[in-house]
Amino acid sequence: MRIGDRGPGKTIIDLQMLNELKTCPACSRSFNLGDPVVLACGAWEGPPRLIHEHEAVFNKKTSSYIERKCAEASRL
Ligand SMILES: [Zn+2]
Repeated sequence: MRIGDRGPGKTIIDLQMLNELKTCPACSRSFNLGDPVVLACGAWEGPPRLIHEHEAVFNKKTSSYIERKCAEASRL
């Protein structure tokens, strides 16, 4: 996977990723070819995973993406 070709942690779903990833951990929907995705931390266990770009927000403090739901929850 070539992550970071569109900026830090950003990429576009290609055929290889489509076969490897199946579904988005943020919305549980399937990825489509050409979807913009980012490597983000979220509610799941383990390391950052690729999710749809619009479901993530960029955290300037850590220079990384975080799942939007997660970011909103931690602000409460
Ligand atoms: Zn998604």
